[in-house]
Amino acid sequence: MKKIITVVGARPQFIKAATLSRQFQLLGIEEIIIHTGQHFDVNMSDVFFEEMEIPKLAYRLDIHGLTHGAMTGRMLEGIESILLKEKPDGVMVFGDTNSTLAGALAASKLHIPVIHVEAGLRSFNMEMPEEINRILTDRISNLLFCPTNAAVNNLLREGFETMPVKIIKNGDVMQDAAMYYAEKAEKKSDIIKQIALPKFVLATIHRQENTDSPKNLKNIIAGLNEINLQIPVVVPIHPRTRNILSQMNIVPEFKLIDPVGYFDMIMLLKSCELVITDSGGVQKEAFFFGKHCITLREQTEWVELVENGFNILVGSDVEKLQNAFRILNLKTSDFAIDLYGKGQAAEGAAREISLF
Ligand code: UDP
Repeated sequence: MKKIITVVGARPQFIKAATLSRQFQLLGIEEIIIHTGQHFDVNMSDVFFEEMEIPKLAYRLDIHGLTHGAMTGRMLEGIESILLKEKPDGVMVFGDTNSTLAGALAASKLHIPVIHVEAGLRSFNMEMPEEINRILTDRISNLLFCPTNAAVNNLLREGFETMPVKIIKNGDVMQDAAMYYAEKAEKKSDIIKQIALPKFVLATIHRQENTDSPKNLKNIIAGLNEINLQIPVVVPIHPRTRNILSQMNIVPEFKLIDPVGYFDMIMLLKSCELVITDSGGVQKEAFFFGKHCITLREQTEWVELVENGFNILVGSDVEKLQNAFRILNLKTSDFAIDLYGKGQAAEGAAREISLF
């Protein structure tokens, strides 16, 4: 039986990992899950394990609240000692966080094959910690699962076809999750009753380029306050953003709620008029649930959403935000186009992993 170690640490990774874990169980692949502890609050971590029925954690490293270097270093050390003990056939990492890089680096130094799910994405902005993590992780991965054509092309442009690695376009595992859990969410979530708004805009803000720049954050809050005068804005607020807003004495006029679980998030996405976000995952989820998205960033890794008119990038510019809102609030689109594989991504990846 093949033995895979999965390294997760941050909210979006729990969601992505859930889709693979289910497929591993179907194929009889043994999976050992390490949680680095990067996200640790009940509503940023435990709720996802419960709702998504992710198998029990084998290891919890509880590493959080440190600088990027210290966090990555301690994770590297913690993961390495587990790999030495468990001797897996492969280490699977997701996305672009410090946990992704630490998992990949620990494995590659021990000559254990690295499996990167969500490989090949690029923003071409080296100031983003995520961009550094992605590029380095891809470079030391052996099995690279790309969600989109753009991701495959990025790797080819970087010369990956000359390397002894396997590049597979399998689609986006987040679409698998959205499709699989949508029905459960309908039954289990009562968030729409709780917020009691007939119409609302759903927004999320947590990207470092926005939260750590007082100018960007103030602009975004001002822009959302203005939109809130037209349609109520609801923001499940990331703990980091909440802390920074309170340090800056900024009290938004729109509705802040605590971070929600995945079922509630699905219902908010399904029921809103429009999405405004700087999240990577939420941009795609807007599309999965047939909503237009305004992205509070200068670049996106999900270029196909912009190219097809589902998403407008506005950075933190208040005027661009207002213009995009005016355009997308009136627009109707056909969201049936298949950009992300229609929910088969985890199945395809697990099959490849069972064979490699
Ligand atoms: N999410 C959630 N509850 C929230 C906010 C986000 O369940 O209150 C989910 C969201 O639906 C998506 C994932 O978390 O699946 C995205 O995570 P995040 O925005 O933190 O990270 P990114 O995708 O930008 O890496």
